[in-house]
Amino acid sequence: MKSSRLKLFSCILIIVMLFSLFGAVTAYSYGPTAPNNEYCYIRAVKSGKYITVPNGTVSNGKEIKIYSGDVTASQRWHIYTYSDGYSIIRSAINSNYYLSLKNSTSTNNAKLTIEYFASGTAIPSRAIFMFIGDASLGITYIINKSTLAEHAMIKVLEAYGGSISDGTNIVNYDAHEGIDAARNQYWVIESTTRTTYKWAYDLVDSGGHCDWDSSSIYTDMVTEAAYAWNNRLNATIFRKDSLSVVQDVKIIDALQNPSNTQTFATTSADTKKITFYTIPMDALPGDVVRMHTVTHELGHCLGLYESSQQGNIMTQGGLAYGTSISLDDVATYKLT
Ligand SMILES: [Zn+2]
Repeated sequence: MKSSRLKLFSCILIIVMLFSLFGAVTAYSYGPTAPNNEYCYIRAVKSGKYITVPNGTVSNGKEIKIYSGDVTASQRWHIYTYSDGYSIIRSAINSNYYLSLKNSTSTNNAKLTIEYFASGTAIPSRAIFMFIGDASLGITYIINKSTLAEHAMIKVLEAYGGSISDGTNIVNYDAHEGIDAARNQYWVIESTTRTTYKWAYDLVDSGGHCDWDSSSIYTDMVTEAAYAWNNRLNATIFRKDSLSVVQDVKIIDALQNPSNTQTFATTSADTKKITFYTIPMDALPGDVVRMHTVTHELGHCLGLYESSQQGNIMTQGGLAYGTSISLDDVATYKLT
């Protein structure tokens, strides 16, 4: 018989530090350690979509856009970080093509491109970037070297106009201040290494649905997170409960977990409940972090365990991933 302990997740928040990018502190903290000399995926927090070479073919000056994760070379980037902290980011399709602000480094909405450089060429600032962010939140800004050197990080990469659609350009734009205001400017570096973290239980019924009902104050976030999972898995798994279907999970609130006040949510396969603890939840630094928590708990309903890999929604901690779900999360779900 399995221990009931395994049937309950207590998801604990650890926030080591908060942003200090725009205050008096001048020492930048490096974002999630850029995988140095490794291939990775680069995911936009707001949309959950990836920096992509459209159509998988490279050409000099081609515009680079966001698309849903497809595990192809068009979304894999080789990051090489120099000892001074600056990085070059090259396409896995052809390593002579670099991410670059080929046409402008100074204007708002200047488009991110790929640019060809022959081997041995000195790489100009427009094709050099720095990842600056907060490792405890798991997110990073991506700043062009020209912008950083001349303007002390005024502009950062974002999806054009805040759009989350496939095919949206990535542009350089004025950096926003504040954890929720900057959501469209956050990026997650994902490893291309596949790990799996299946739970022995799930709250999906025999018809392949997880029908939920909620009395939580975070119900709007549950709705958004359920949509994100369905969209990412390309299936209607989460459905808002109705009278005609049997409820699979009930979502409720409590003030605090009496056994651990640091716990901000639990998901139990015994009681078929997600409980959010409103005191620690409301103390989180922004909605983007609360959205991560909600999306994470729904992941447990799908049969996903805790992960420890950077970039996964199923990794615990004070991570500002919003509803953005990693390729590793999707691959693990397909094994449940
Ligand atoms: Zn958890």
